[in-house]
Amino acid sequence: MSSTKETPVPGNFLRHVIENDLAQGTYQSRHWGGSPGDGAHHAAGAPDPARIRTRFPPEPNGYLHIGHAKSIWLNFSLAREYGGVCHLRFDDTNPEKEDQEYVDSIREAIRWLGYDHHLADDPARPGIRQPHEYFASDYFDFMHRAAVYLIEAGLAYVDEQTPDEMRINRGDFNTPGKNSPWRERSPAQNLARFAEMRAGQHPDGSMVLRAKIDMASPNINMRDPAIYRIRHAAHHNTGDKWCIYPMYTFAHPIEDALEQITHSICTLEFEDQRPFYDWLLARLTEGGLLKAPPPRQYEFARLNVSHVITSKRKLRQLVEEGHVSGWDDPRMPTLAGLRRRGYTPESLKLFAERSGVTKSGGWTDYAALDAALRETLDPVAPRAMAVLEPLRLVIENWEEVFGSAAHQQACQAPVHPHLPALGQRSFTLGKEIWIERSDFEETPPKGFFRLFPGNKVRLKYGYVIECTGAEKDATGQITCVRARLLPGTQSGTPGADSVKVKGVITWVNTADALPAQVRLYDRLFTEEQPDAGGRDFLTALNPQSLRVARAWVEPTLAKAQAEDRYQFERHGFFVADRREHTVSGRNLVFNRITGLRDSWGK
Ligand code: ATP
Ligand code: MG
Repeated sequence: MSSTKETPVPGNFLRHVIENDLAQGTYQSRHWGGSPGDGAHHAAGAPDPARIRTRFPPEPNGYLHIGHAKSIWLNFSLAREYGGVCHLRFDDTNPEKEDQEYVDSIREAIRWLGYDHHLADDPARPGIRQPHEYFASDYFDFMHRAAVYLIEAGLAYVDEQTPDEMRINRGDFNTPGKNSPWRERSPAQNLARFAEMRAGQHPDGSMVLRAKIDMASPNINMRDPAIYRIRHAAHHNTGDKWCIYPMYTFAHPIEDALEQITHSICTLEFEDQRPFYDWLLARLTEGGLLKAPPPRQYEFARLNVSHVITSKRKLRQLVEEGHVSGWDDPRMPTLAGLRRRGYTPESLKLFAERSGVTKSGGWTDYAALDAALRETLDPVAPRAMAVLEPLRLVIENWEEVFGSAAHQQACQAPVHPHLPALGQRSFTLGKEIWIERSDFEETPPKGFFRLFPGNKVRLKYGYVIECTGAEKDATGQITCVRARLLPGTQSGTPGADSVKVKGVITWVNTADALPAQVRLYDRLFTEEQPDAGGRDFLTALNPQSLRVARAWVEPTLAKAQAEDRYQFERHGFFVADRREHTVSGRNLVFNRITGLRDSWGK
């Protein structure tokens, strides 16, 4: 895949949904209370200045990955495109150990992608930017109130069956469920029991609150789903206030409603939960707790990328067992890892857009991310020469041509071949230079046009040289190549074309090149679907996913700042490592983002 410039942007059915809603004025009557809240709170506010509201709702229990990037791109860009806002909502309704580290990393990743929720434009007040960052645990009071309302309305009951009984009585795809013996308790009895649950009088798992819908529903999610459970556990935000916690299926629609979300976008696994989502919001609206119109849920196929794992549990295993150096190891599909590897926000957004927003799942080739990176970076990345596997070359007639072995001949090259405004790079050519080991062959294979005894090549931006031979050590390893320089052939001078050559090689001068550590990354997994069919994904780890080269780079890279990206000519795209590269300490560390073309596995 050398270029995908013609790749059409696939359709996005959500655009049609939104445009249709805007045309029909579906959400025109909504008010916004200035913060999340119940129906009365919003009714007291002004007409909602946001034409639509979307949200990105990560659970702060891990680092965001490439799949989340798609969801972020989708929600934030749709909001931006249609004059809406997108909320960042930390979905922290689980009292599991939440980590500030995850909250911080999520904020940082979103900011890096260029969607700064902290500074969302407030369309009501041009020039004023207001934050839209929320925590679902702030809604526990309302969720409890909603549960009490359902009980009072005869729409929920406390079930004291054991988890096993509940599972058996739920039935399956072919068998309708059986009503619980506790299903017909009166609202008063249920209220009393629920109050005991809340007061901590019952152990974990002894009873749950269930919505009372239909145990014979063809949709198993409608067979009286559990909505509150007992968990004697402290929560990072609410501490010991609660020992009952809402189930995800109950909490999520309420979070959306309190935030006045219009289009709640999620992945296809949640399709079967949509009837409950609608049921719950309709009941709470009837009960006066919320105002119509309610949010609507839309599902799209999650992003699956070949050679990549996105399960948070498995990513954590890679980190904890030391298969990678951390969450931001440049081989990790986390946004922290992709950033450190050198991928740009533009490339991730282009990749997300091209992967399409559809109803049917599929796999996206990792190569498409590299293609997006090349396309967006090639037009802007400064060029540099680097020798990754250095072999010394000595120009035998240097003194004859330039009068002194110590002479350094000035050379120039454009910073970017198509952006003259970026100016020129300067470096020197001398008697001894570094070339790539692979650019010399003692006995050349057919079609090899670079260095071999008797052949002429151009040193890019320098002179034409003719190879005269090579030296070897005791093991037969080439230690040095010898050549003669053809005077008058310097690039950019009238004589440059006087000698025709078939090969051009890159090089750096031993006198002014800088040492650098260059990390050459390959895919972390050799298999397209590392965890397919229940396989232990660790068996698919690529033992060659990292190779560290001790390279020499041209002197202009002395000013490279961390996260500066370059095209190393003939080698691909590289970034100065954001953790280890330091300019002042002269510790140059570059990561290869990707090669110049898709060559993996070839
Ligand atoms: P995991 O199951 O590994 O814990 P998750 O999907 O549960 O991941 P969340 O933090 O709940 O992680 O995800 C936040 C949002 O990102 C959700 O709206 C979810 O739908 C979306 N998302 C997660 N993975 C993908 C993916 N591969 N493609 C598209 N959207 C995704
Ligand atoms: Mg989740």
